[in-house]
Amino acid sequence: EPPAAMAVPQAGDTTLTLLRRVGVADPESLDDYRAHGGYAALRRAFALGPAGVIREVTDSGLVGRGGAAFPTGRKWQATASQPDRPHHLVCNADESEPGTFKDRVIMEGDPYALVEAMTIAAYATGAHKGYLYLRGEYPRALHRMRYAIDRARARGLLGDDILGQGFAFDIEIRRGAGAYICGEETALFSSIEGYRGEPRSKPPFPVEKGLFGKPTVENNVETLVNVLPVLTMGAPAYAAIGTERSTGPKLFCVSGSVGRPGVYEVPFGATLGELLELADVRDGLRAVLLGGAAGGFVRADELDIPLTFEGTREAGTTLGSGVVMAFDDTVPLPRLLLRIAQFFRDESCGQCVPCRVGTVRQEEALTRIVERTGAGAAGDIALLREVGSAMRDASICGLGQTAWNAVESAIDRLGAYE
Ligand code: NAD
Ligand code: SF4
Repeated sequence: EPPAAMAVPQAGDTTLTLLRRVGVADPESLDDYRAHGGYAALRRAFALGPAGVIREVTDSGLVGRGGAAFPTGRKWQATASQPDRPHHLVCNADESEPGTFKDRVIMEGDPYALVEAMTIAAYATGAHKGYLYLRGEYPRALHRMRYAIDRARARGLLGDDILGQGFAFDIEIRRGAGAYICGEETALFSSIEGYRGEPRSKPPFPVEKGLFGKPTVENNVETLVNVLPVLTMGAPAYAAIGTERSTGPKLFCVSGSVGRPGVYEVPFGATLGELLELADVRDGLRAVLLGGAAGGFVRADELDIPLTFEGTREAGTTLGSGVVMAFDDTVPLPRLLLRIAQFFRDESCGQCVPCRVGTVRQEEALTRIVERTGAGAAGDIALLREVGSAMRDASICGLGQTAWNAVESAIDRLGAYE
């Protein structure tokens, strides 16, 4: 057995919403899941009907938790209204952003919640088949999800007639094979279809033409499990959590120079400093990477940034998938940036020139700066800016578009090479 996901420091805290069962209920027991509130949301969904569920999700203000914050209700409505059939549901569990491990904690610690949430999403959008695309490096999550799906099927909670309501739905697990790019939704579809995991141009968006060319709802694990409290507490109560434009609870993955790394649940609007205090941040903090390798650095004197989509945007950074990586002053920043550049060079699918060539040029320039082999950092920084803007403007997908974000923010906000 691989080690369990990083400890959940708040396990057992009764004020939690998303993590309330993690570390409390037995993740293999369907009875325990039900005893802790499981399947109340699906019953409410059946009572509301598909259109009523979409209305609740829309009114809740829920937006995607994979990183892009697209309104979930709008996505569901757009798929539900497509006349083309069949509709598909895909849960993106290919969590691969460096520093992101929240979906892993949900799948390992509360797997039936994801089964229930996928059933609700399928019911609302008219899908009868759901794919769970699970990161290959998550064997414990695979085991837990497989077991939960089998148990749910055996108890009539998946299959031809769920809870006697005449609704048919089942889930198939597909394992990723270690490619970061397969978390990009269209590359993920290609991977399920048996092709190379290469992104397709959008539009058309998946809601119209997704998996196998059919209307598809694709949602992140955390997004889906948020639908459970939306339905059990009702949209107004859910929308009252957090801020006006970032509603609900949010999971953050805190790692690096902290005493208690792990997944934390806080309402949107807590500040970065408050979250780091919870995680027992160490002395000598120099910088925090928000949003992962595709995100950006902020300085240690910017800890009053509110953790909301709008607050991070106003501060010129991003919340992304909830990565909060703390670095103290012992970390050699130029080497860290080089490591990030190597990651993007490795993971580029090579389909388009700006990203395929740009990620190599970026790594070369950063290597020269670290090894002091070039004509001087100033020239290489100018080159990095040129290459970075070409990647941002001309790459097909988010990987190339964001491959320069962290380096740029380290230069502009941290003065990385001064
Ligand atoms: P995106 O903005 O292109 O799309 C977000 C979602 O909204 C997609 O599902 C897309 O299909 C949908 N959408 C957008 N416009 C639409 C429209 N007009 N009509 C219908 N649907 C529409 O972003 P993306 O490229 O899918 O994702 C980028 C994000 O992924 C980044 O924020 C990054 O942080 C995050 N990311 C997360 C991980 C992780 O492990 N969680 C890894 C890499 C990247
Ligand atoms: Fe592939 Fe990079 Fe182009 Fe995305 S931006 S399609 S990862 S080459």
